[in-house]
Amino acid sequence: MRNASATPAIAVPEYEVYALRYATRGGRRAEHFVGGDPHDGEMPMDYFVWVVKGPRSTFVVDTGFTAAMAAKRRRTFLQCPVQSLAALGIQGDSVTDVIITHLHYDHVGNFDKFPNARFHLQERELAYATGRYMKYPFFAHSFEVDEVVGMVRLNYDGRVELHNGEVELAPGITLHPTPGHTAGLQAVRVHTRRGWVVLASDTTHFFENMTTDRPFTVGFHLGHMVDAFRILESLASSPDHIIPGHDPLVMQLYRPPEARLEGIVVRLDVEPTSPAPASARVRR
Ligand SMILES: [Zn+2]
Repeated sequence: MRNASATPAIAVPEYEVYALRYATRGGRRAEHFVGGDPHDGEMPMDYFVWVVKGPRSTFVVDTGFTAAMAAKRRRTFLQCPVQSLAALGIQGDSVTDVIITHLHYDHVGNFDKFPNARFHLQERELAYATGRYMKYPFFAHSFEVDEVVGMVRLNYDGRVELHNGEVELAPGITLHPTPGHTAGLQAVRVHTRRGWVVLASDTTHFFENMTTDRPFTVGFHLGHMVDAFRILESLASSPDHIIPGHDPLVMQLYRPPEARLEGIVVRLDVEPTSPAPASARVRR
């Protein structure tokens, strides 16, 4: 006779998660909050890709941009993210699954360096990036048309999985629409040894966008941006499990896996060295 207590629970795999910092730029606080900031001062921005490494499968989350794009957009390039992946023992041509959180230039460049991967994207993001709003520079500015067309070509090659809503890619890794910054942005929820970590990507650029409910200055729908902060909170085991898309604090809160990767890679599936600022959010 079987009952629930006699059925062994199937353990959800625990993944290792890494942030790879590949570029940076100077910036000011007023550039990063709709409505500006009364205490304007310096607020630099980092650029990341992420890796989710499991017992059976590895997922690359976003692909960054190239040195040439850094020059064009006046960003400070640190190291090609594909080179950083190799430093972690992951070769671009061995990657089978790439998650693209959204199609902005800083998240989808380098896609050609993953010749054997399929790309996971929300269908709504491709519709947005090829749709009516792209005639307006405000919305089009953060896209590179050649990269958007490149993704269309990959789709014709059968290499794009266009998802509609939440999807489980493997046990312990799921994608969740968090629109607002773009129409089809998605966040990634990952099971780790410290619980459920959420790679927010640009759902929140900095911890502070989320903790103060102030949207970032590039966006499609401000209300949805703020709603998406709540989605992140509902998905993560705690506020300390949310990883913003561009916050230099990530490099301070988390440790490199090896000393030689200092300043380039940090490990996110181990506890932060101090509580993330998200813990101290001011509730309404
Ligand atoms: Zn971004």
